[in-house]
Amino acid sequence: MHKNGLQVAIDGPASAGKSTVAKLVATKFNYIYCDTGAMYRAITYKVLQNKVDLDDEAAITKIVQNSVISFKPTENGQKVFIDGEDITEAIRSEKVTNSVSAVSAIGSVRKQLSDQQQALAAKGGIVMDGRDIGSTVLPNAEVKIFLIASVDERAERRYKENIAKGMDTSLEVLKQEIRDRDYKDSHRALSPLVKAKDAIEVDTTSMTINEVVEKISTIIEKYLTSN
Ligand code: C5P
Repeated sequence: MHKNGLQVAIDGPASAGKSTVAKLVATKFNYIYCDTGAMYRAITYKVLQNKVDLDDEAAITKIVQNSVISFKPTENGQKVFIDGEDITEAIRSEKVTNSVSAVSAIGSVRKQLSDQQQALAAKGGIVMDGRDIGSTVLPNAEVKIFLIASVDERAERRYKENIAKGMDTSLEVLKQEIRDRDYKDSHRALSPLVKAKDAIEVDTTSMTINEVVEKISTIIEKYLTSN
């Protein structure tokens, strides 16, 4: 085991509930929580702000090399910053969501962000969620979870979240966006979304958030008691 505890990797497709669950599991075990999707979204936000083309790899490489992404826990949840600017809300926009897969497919972006993720996880005591954590970023993570849910269920959850935020989006459009993002994330050349050989698959389609948290906590506790 690492000095501060286990490395827990939670991967899976878009909107499978990874970050909600990962946050709760981290709180329960008093571990750090790292949302790697937010890091890819942060770079995408800056690319869009600077009006850089999504296929301009050289310009995007410069952006990722010259940006500082940071997280800060607050009473209202974890905040995300790029170069000191609070972008917690901005990185959830439709524009960022629909552009992020193009940016995350670029080698220099993946290299830079996964180096930072590995440094953050080096001492353990961390729950990290994303697409390639168990397969590439933390191949030796003690606990690897692969969360899945049907497209209908994931679109439904996104739809309800949007309604709660006062955004009225079409369920059909959400389904298509989720399918598109899954396709791009699973078919890119570099560390695509894939279930690691030793990951435990959890289908959350008909589970509540609490049930998923319980299930993952039991897996962690089992590891802790047997090692
Ligand atoms: O998890 P979230 O939906 O916020 O991730 C946003 C995007 O970031 C994904 O669709 C994917 O393109 C990218 N990503 C990635 N590798 C990770 C985490 C996210 O490529 N480890």
